[in-house]
Amino acid sequence: MSRRGLLGASAAGLSAAGLTAAGVAVASDAPADRARPRSARTEPGTSGVRLRWLGNNGWEIRVARPGKRPATVLIDPWLTRFRTGTYTEAGADPTTELVVDKDAIDRHRLRADQILVTHGHYDHLPDVPHLAATTDATVLGTESHANLLLALAEPEERDALEGRLSVVSGGEHLQLEGYSIRVLRSLHSMTGARARVPFPGTRPGGPPPRPKTIADLVEGGTLAYAITCDATGFTVVNFGGSNFSAADLAGLSPDLAMIQPGGATVHDYVPRLLSCLDHPPYVVPTHWDDVDEPLDEPAVDWGGLTGLRNAVRAASPSTRFVVVDHLETFTP
Ligand SMILES: [Zn+2]
Repeated sequence: MSRRGLLGASAAGLSAAGLTAAGVAVASDAPADRARPRSARTEPGTSGVRLRWLGNNGWEIRVARPGKRPATVLIDPWLTRFRTGTYTEAGADPTTELVVDKDAIDRHRLRADQILVTHGHYDHLPDVPHLAATTDATVLGTESHANLLLALAEPEERDALEGRLSVVSGGEHLQLEGYSIRVLRSLHSMTGARARVPFPGTRPGGPPPRPKTIADLVEGGTLAYAITCDATGFTVVNFGGSNFSAADLAGLSPDLAMIQPGGATVHDYVPRLLSCLDHPPYVVPTHWDDVDEPLDEPAVDWGGLTGLRNAVRAASPSTRFVVVDHLETFTP
C-alpha cells in the first residue's frame, strides 16, 4: 500500500492500536493559531502517524500498528540544550563544552524502537547514547555518527550502545513490523558567504578520543529519513539540514515533509525541494527555534520561520504549513 489517497482505510484498526486514544494539539498555518492554548485538542486524524516536537530537529514519531502498540521512532532527540550562541551575530563558540543532562533527558520519559541520526553535530547527537542505553532502541546513522556516539558514551553505556548501532549510508529501505524506514543520502546546510558546512569532517575507522567541545562533533555525513505507516501508506520525511540531494529523493512522494528554514546558499532551495517531493500536502517546519532558549516554553523563532512559510506558500499553494510548538503534537 502506498502513500497518498489511502487515508482512512483502516482508521478503526488504528484506533484499536491505541494511537488515536492519545490527545493531540494542533497548530496550523495561520499566525493567530500559534496563540491557541497549548491544551487545545482536536479529533485525531486518520494518518496513523503522530508527531511530537522535541525542539531543534528532535521529533518523536508514533506510528499506529493494528493489534499492536504504536511504534516510536525518535529523530535527532536532543533534550539537554546547553547555551552555545548558535543564533547570535558571532555564532556558536567552538570551545563550548558539551553537556549531557541525564535528568533533563529522563524527565521526558521517552521510549523508542529506533533512533534516527541525521548528522553528528552538537545539537543533534549528544543525548543519543543515554537514550539508546535507556530505551533499547536501534540507532541508525553513518559510520562517523556511530564512532562519535561510541566516543561520547559513558563506559557503562558503551557495550549496550555497540549492540544497538546500525550503520547505514543512504539508500536502505528497512521493513519493520507495521512500518518502513527509508534512509536517504542527504546534505548539510551550507552557511555564510562562502557556503561552508559548519564543523565538517568524518570520523571513520573507530571511535575518536572522547569529544569535549561542540567542535569535536563533526558533521560525519548527513542523512534524511522517510517513515511510512504500512496500514495507511502515510509517509513523513525529515531533513536534518537545509539542503538535500535531489537525485536521492527520486520516487519519494511524502504526505508530510519536515523541512528547515535557511538554505540561502542553496539554489532555489524551497521550490526545488518541494518539487522533488511532489508538493506534499503538509509541511511542518523543523529546526526553527533558538536552542539557547528553554524547551519547556514556547519556541523562540531564530528568524527563519516567516521566510520559510512564505516560500512554501509561493512554491506550493495547496500545501498546509503546520507549525508545531515545543513538545506539542500533531496528528495529520
Ligand atoms: Zn548541523
